[in-house]
Amino acid sequence: MKLSVDPSQRYAKMRAHTATHLLHAELAQFFPDTKQAWSLVDSDLLRFDFYADRLLNEEELALIEKRVNEIIYMACEVKIEEMWIEDAGKLGAKMFFEEKYWDVVRVVQVFNNEDACEQDKAYFASRWEKLSIELCWGTHVKNTKDIWAFTIISQEAVASGIKRLTALTGPRVIEKIENQSSLLSQLVDLYEVKSSAQLIEKTQKLLKDFWELKAQVESLEAKSITSFLENGEKKSNEDFDIIMKVPTDINFKTLWFQAKQYFGGKNVLLATIAGNYILFTVAGNSAKTLAQKLGLKGGWNDQQVQWRDEKVVAFLW
Ligand SMILES: [Zn+2]
Repeated sequence: MKLSVDPSQRYAKMRAHTATHLLHAELAQFFPDTKQAWSLVDSDLLRFDFYADRLLNEEELALIEKRVNEIIYMACEVKIEEMWIEDAGKLGAKMFFEEKYWDVVRVVQVFNNEDACEQDKAYFASRWEKLSIELCWGTHVKNTKDIWAFTIISQEAVASGIKRLTALTGPRVIEKIENQSSLLSQLVDLYEVKSSAQLIEKTQKLLKDFWELKAQVESLEAKSITSFLENGEKKSNEDFDIIMKVPTDINFKTLWFQAKQYFGGKNVLLATIAGNYILFTVAGNSAKTLAQKLGLKGGWNDQQVQWRDEKVVAFLW
C-alpha cells in the first residue's frame, strides 16, 4: 500500500492552520489571558474554541478579521524551528503550567514584516516583533500571503466560559463572497429593484408601509369592536349586568381592553360559542369567586378571568 497526500487538501489545511495561529494571536488583544480550549483545522475551514467570559461584538470581530487579513497581505514569514523548551520560553512562546510538554518543542513563529501595509502600521509596529508564536507540530504555510484571505463566518458560546469562532481561508472565502452575491441577486429580483444598493431603501419603504397598514388595521379593528360593544345584542341575569355573545374571530386582547373601558363598573361576561370567555366584575367583587360559583374554569385573577370553558355557552343564547 502506498500512502499519498492530496496536495490541494494539504495546502487547504496549511492555510487554515496558520490562520488559526493568527486568529489566536489577535484574540489575545481582547482577551489577554485566553487560551485555546479546542481547535479543528479542516480544508480552508477552522473552528477555534477559546476561553472568554463574553462574546465579541460586531466591531471587534470585524477588527480581528481586518488584522488577520492585513498580516496575510503583509506577506509575513512563517518560521518553524525545533528547540529546547527553555529556549522557546525565552522567545516568548506561551506555555501553560497545567500542560505537559516534551523537552524539545517545535516553535512556529510569524514575523512582523517591516513593510507593514499602511492601514494599521501603528498597531502592528507597536505590537511585537513577532505577530504570533506558538508551540505546534502541525503543518503550515511558509508565508502568510499563501493563506490568500480570511473571513469569520460565525461566533457562538459552546460551553460555560468557552466561545467558538468558525472561519474560512483561501478559495472558500471567494465561495462565501459568491454565495452572498447570489443571495443579493435573488433579493434584487424579489424586491424588483435595479441593484443591491437599492435594497436598504426598498426595505425601509416596505417596512414603513407595513407599519402604516398595521396601524390602520388595528384602528379599524378597534372601531369595529367599539361598534360591536355599543350596538351588539346584550342580555343580563342575576350575576351579570352585561352578557354578550362575541364573534369567534374577534381579537380578544383588544376586546378585553376596550370592554373594560366601555363597561367599567359593571359585572360583564363576553363569550364565544367556542367557549372562549372574558369575565370581569365591579371593583370590590372577585371575578374569581364569581367564576367558581358559576362552575367555570379559568386563569385566576381577582379582577378578571379569561379562559376557555365550553360550559360558558350555557349562559349565551
Ligand atoms: Zn498549531
